[in-house]
Amino acid sequence: MEKMKRFIDCYIPTETCNFRCHYCYITQHRKFNSNLAKFDYEPEVIRKALSKKRLGGVCMFNICAGGETLLSEDVIKITEQLLLEGHYVMIVTNGSMTNRFKEISKFDRKLMSHLFFKFSFHYLELVRMNLLEKYFENVKLMEECGASYTIEITPTDELEPYIDEIKEVCLKYVGALPHITIGRKDSEDIPPLTQHSFEEYKKIWKEFNSEMFNFKSTIFGEKRKEFCYAGDWSVYLNLMSGEMRQCYCGKVLDNIYKNVDKELKFAPIGNCCGMPHCYNGHAFLTFGDIPELETPTYDKLRNRVKKDGKEWLSDEMKSFMQSKLKDANAELDSSKKNIINLKNQPIIILKKIKRKLKNEKKK
Ligand code: SF4
Ligand code: SF4
Repeated sequence: MEKMKRFIDCYIPTETCNFRCHYCYITQHRKFNSNLAKFDYEPEVIRKALSKKRLGGVCMFNICAGGETLLSEDVIKITEQLLLEGHYVMIVTNGSMTNRFKEISKFDRKLMSHLFFKFSFHYLELVRMNLLEKYFENVKLMEECGASYTIEITPTDELEPYIDEIKEVCLKYVGALPHITIGRKDSEDIPPLTQHSFEEYKKIWKEFNSEMFNFKSTIFGEKRKEFCYAGDWSVYLNLMSGEMRQCYCGKVLDNIYKNVDKELKFAPIGNCCGMPHCYNGHAFLTFGDIPELETPTYDKLRNRVKKDGKEWLSDEMKSFMQSKLKDANAELDSSKKNIINLKNQPIIILKKIKRKLKNEKKK
């Protein structure tokens, strides 16, 4: 079984979309613009910048834009290059861009076994735009080409009257119920996106029996205080500018395009996570950024067994998603952890002061 050396969470700065979901993080801030990611570097150069040699081994990439990821045609060629390098790639998409899926279907079949789609299921938009059939045709095309996938719903209060309808449609087209994430408001404490109490919200959506939802419910709102290896075992990368950070917080570590022949700098964030909670811990935590934390493996949060016995994940993808980062990386002893924390402290203090000043200004 291949071991996962690092989890690379890539941001694509496309901030436009063909959908207008009411709960979209970009919509919440009226940030929709016409920015479509156009890369300055050839896909082959990007591959070199992210080679197995430079990253230390086979990695899991997550590719997600601010808007619709597949609007940018460059994403297809970059994905192909990362797959040719031997990495695994997950693409987050609204599932509507049929032409892009047709392009992907021409990839070598062997590459498809390393490719996974997170098909977000934006039911109300799909119905409004009469795209429901097209969406499931695209899912089917990717499945037939050997890719893995999941269907995921962002549960919102507006969607509650359609729960039965959604279940019926998903059972018909993909043989199982969708997984459920937790919607979030893009405000300071990043609370759940609902008018209900969190307990009520959990009661409503747990009927989908989604491991994704069940796990996220246990970590949502929990400030992480343990030693976290984000910054080393995982990074947050702006794939267009090349800026690589420890996580959604923390410091900038390097720029992957600066000198593609040079080693990359990694440094764990340690006990200095600056986020109110680990809202994408369904990936970071299940892959094992905090090794002492017991979690399910990531495949459990993504897979479903269909009515016909087939699964949404291929065997190869399932087995890679079962990896834990500690299997390919050495843990640090307590003295090294202390040194890391001392180095990270000034950044945290500076951030706290900045936040305090910002809050005072608001008052
Ligand atoms: S499909 Fe995604 S990016 Fe587009 S509006 Fe909906 S949530 Fe936002
Ligand atoms: S706890 Fe989560 S949000 Fe915080 S640094 Fe680690 S991975 Fe990132």
